Amino acid sequence: MGRWKKAQALAAARGIDALLVTPGADLRYLIGYEAKPLERLTCLVLPASGDPTLVVPALERSAALAAGVDIEIASWTETQDPFALVASIVGPAATVGLDDHMWASRVFALGAAIATADQVLTGSLVQELRIRKDPDEIAALRDAGAAIDRVHRRMGEWLRAGRTEREVGADIARAILDEGHVSVDFVIVGSGPNGASPHHEVSDRVISRGETVVVDIGGTTEVGYCSDSTRNYLIGDDAPAGYDEAYAVLFAAQQAQREHARPGVSAESVDAVGRTIIAEAGYGELFIHRTGHGIGQETHEEPYIVEGNDLLLEEGMAFSIEPGIYHEGLYGARIEDIAVCTADGLEVLNATPRELVRLPG
Ligand code: ZN
Ligand code: ZN
Ligand code: ZN
Repeated sequence: MGRWKKAQALAAARGIDALLVTPGADLRYLIGYEAKPLERLTCLVLPASGDPTLVVPALERSAALAAGVDIEIASWTETQDPFALVASIVGPAATVGLDDHMWASRVFALGAAIATADQVLTGSLVQELRIRKDPDEIAALRDAGAAIDRVHRRMGEWLRAGRTEREVGADIARAILDEGHVSVDFVIVGSGPNGASPHHEVSDRVISRGETVVVDIGGTTEVGYCSDSTRNYLIGDDAPAGYDEAYAVLFAAQQAQREHARPGVSAESVDAVGRTIIAEAGYGELFIHRTGHGIGQETHEEPYIVEGNDLLLEEGMAFSIEPGIYHEGLYGARIEDIAVCTADGLEVLNATPRELVRLPG
């Protein structure tokens, strides 16, 4: 069954008369159209039963057709009211569901145009579908993982003492594109104390011998799936005092999490397995974020691997396992793999060494 048909069934079960989905990951997931988020309205109207319609500005019609949109298209000209057009397609409705990322201006305009209907959020409805990847999606994530692995394997070409994080980051960004992505989503080169800030990107800090560097990188491949992997590098031979001990604990924690994660265990238990190891070694206060996030057409999506999420993992769920230890002012370390639940275990989609990688200074 097609994705939008499954979404229709969920909408019907929840008593939602129509889903209204504007450009973004949900639209791309449901009908395969990566629409530009323009000021002119593009909106999928997906009734709980019957055929969907994609409302597009007339000047975007050919782009939608070229992108392979194979549902009814209703276009509006510059002088027409697109919200009235959406309302006429929806017809009488008591409840309409809006995508979570719809612009507030559109929420209000649709509220006025479909005045009889209550508006509800439906991001969770589409996430319910997106959270379980089908074999094509898993293959796409596998390709993305292999692509980012190729970039990590080349790190010695760029990461050296005397260069700035920004220079190294620019080289990495080019390689992310060269090795099989169409966009660079993020490049984190956290050298020395900057490694202790989990979402540090790059700076003009010059990297020195004897420093460790956290490199967390990701991009999106041509078919629209994301990569995300973190590895840790040492410039020279000796890491700062205390680092090797902390790294050994982190390594053991991440390995235990990979061995634990499988269908039937809860998302929060994956977090707990690693957090316990890190805490028992005395670094509990330094593991300052959740263990991971789901990944697919967006880098961060359901399921979140975090305390309090009692969701049981299922076949097809894909997520990161990325514990970290952050010693403010000194260093940080994080080991991150993307993994997907198989029928009875876990397939890890990143395959570069997880040990600290020593690079000549
Ligand atoms: Zn993050
Ligand atoms: Zn991540
Ligand atoms: Zn990452």
